[in-house]
Amino acid sequence: MDATTAPRNLPGRTTSRREAHAVVIGSGFGGLAAAVRLGARGYRVTVLEGLDAPGGRAYVHHQDGFKFDAGPTIITAPFLLEELWRLAGRQLSDDIDLRPLMPFYRLMFHDGESIDWSNDLDAMRRELTRIAPGDVAGYERFMHMSEAIYRVGFQQLGHTPFGSWLDMAKVAPALIRLQSYRTLHSLVASYVRHPKLRFALSFHPLFVGGNPFTTTAVYGLIAHLERSMGVHFVMGGTGRLVTGLTDLIASQGNEVRCKAPVEAITVSGRRVTGVRLASGTEIRADVVVSNADPAMTYGKLLPPGSARSWLTRRIPGSRYSMSLFVWYFGTNRVYPQVPHHTILVGPRYKELLEDIFERKVLAEDFSLYLHRPTATDPSLAPPGCDTFYVLSPVPNLQGNVDWRERAEPYRRAIASALSAQLLPGLEQHVVSSRVTTPLDFRDRLQSLHGAAFGLEPILRQSAWLRPHNRSADVDGLYLVGAGTHPGAGVPGVLSSARVLDRVVPDV
Ligand SMILES: Cc1cc2nc3c(=O)[nH]c(=O)nc-3n(C[C@H](O)[C@H](O)[C@H](O)COP(=O)(O)OP(=O)(O)OC[C@H]3O[C@@H](n4cnc5c(N)ncnc54)[C@H](O)[C@@H]3O)c2cc1C
Repeated sequence: MDATTAPRNLPGRTTSRREAHAVVIGSGFGGLAAAVRLGARGYRVTVLEGLDAPGGRAYVHHQDGFKFDAGPTIITAPFLLEELWRLAGRQLSDDIDLRPLMPFYRLMFHDGESIDWSNDLDAMRRELTRIAPGDVAGYERFMHMSEAIYRVGFQQLGHTPFGSWLDMAKVAPALIRLQSYRTLHSLVASYVRHPKLRFALSFHPLFVGGNPFTTTAVYGLIAHLERSMGVHFVMGGTGRLVTGLTDLIASQGNEVRCKAPVEAITVSGRRVTGVRLASGTEIRADVVVSNADPAMTYGKLLPPGSARSWLTRRIPGSRYSMSLFVWYFGTNRVYPQVPHHTILVGPRYKELLEDIFERKVLAEDFSLYLHRPTATDPSLAPPGCDTFYVLSPVPNLQGNVDWRERAEPYRRAIASALSAQLLPGLEQHVVSSRVTTPLDFRDRLQSLHGAAFGLEPILRQSAWLRPHNRSADVDGLYLVGAGTHPGAGVPGVLSSARVLDRVVPDV
């Protein structure tokens, strides 16, 4: 932890402690974390969620006796969660059973070869000597570089508000030293030669919506983040973290209201005055924190013309992340040989990503991430059954894919690939099934172009150049979540809420 968490007293606040009311629009991890932080600072907080349950991308589907976490499954940087629990006067371990996974995940390549990835240095040396003996030293050197990037990219930049271009100017020398102008794949390729190792060290930005061949090398920090703090799973599923956070909010005397979609942010002059729900109810607030997609916040929730600054006006025309096709399924048998996290690497890497990010076409082949939480927590399925989800990165809706037509054939193609590679006879054993397509990201989660991770994480959409956590256009409006600084992923959105401690005035 660093000194950047210290709240600052900003001028211009006249409201007394008892009256100060903060409304948070949306209950994703960013919104819930913001609510805990504001609650700890004495605000009365109301979280308004449009859906019937909190969590956003971390919503939980209960179906046929199976429990499907809709989104995040890989929990890294647990200290950010511990900090929230401490702010509410509790310990994370009082409420949450967080288990480190070993190995972190299995990478299964198209030719049948696989690597078990972890932070056990001896095991990693053995794995790499088997796959790419000439690259063991290069891997170690890359991990040192990853640590150096982490120290600047995560510890400093991730928790800086970046309200002014001067903030950017201050960090520019460090960013240049860390070669952030390069793409992550090109940085990795300068350390290791074997294509499988190049994949293993560069694919991480896909977890936050970025293409390793275009995203900044700053995302090289994830390798160190995983190595130093581990990869964890929450017993009971990631949804336990969501209920844990809503319980913290309740313990602070505050509330999360579901089925309460916000239709508008109300303003007087340049100052926020509150929100209006779709039901017509108006709620007054001194501070509004939007956890909605920034394009929606400025384009739909605020009155027309509110986006004044150049940086805000360019949000709708920015580059948006890819989307995801997710198939959640339960089987009436157990597949004990399948680990908790498997990444099935397809035959093409760069070319497939060009199809997804540039050409925006649905390719015949895919790379998949398979989640089998019942490997760690069998309670997530009925006895003798397994819970799974498989996700495939796909183009966002700026492409021309008709998901009403393509979803079922695409699901079948994935099922047959899984059946051939990993889950024999799969289709006969599926007893529960549901899919999420880019249309759900657009229509259910209100994300522009159905992007799964908000704005794409590229250098020209990072730090000061990403939607700011304190609105430059509307006083009293703050933004958190994947589309804002520092970016997507659970650590990213928890950090966006952490930045608020430096820009929201004290009560
Ligand atoms: C399938 C999938 C797997 C992932 N896996 C991982 C992983 O393993 N590890 C990891 O770290 N990250 C992962 N991520 C990324 C991570 O889940 C997200 O970046 C993060 O959870 C987003 O949080 P957020 O704060 O931006 O809010 P969101 O989750 O986007 O939630 C925003 C909320 O705001 C609500 N809302 C929007 N507009 C309104 C309105 N007008 N009124 C009221 N409510 C509104 C929405 O209904 C939603 O509930 C994954 C994402 C997906 C989709």
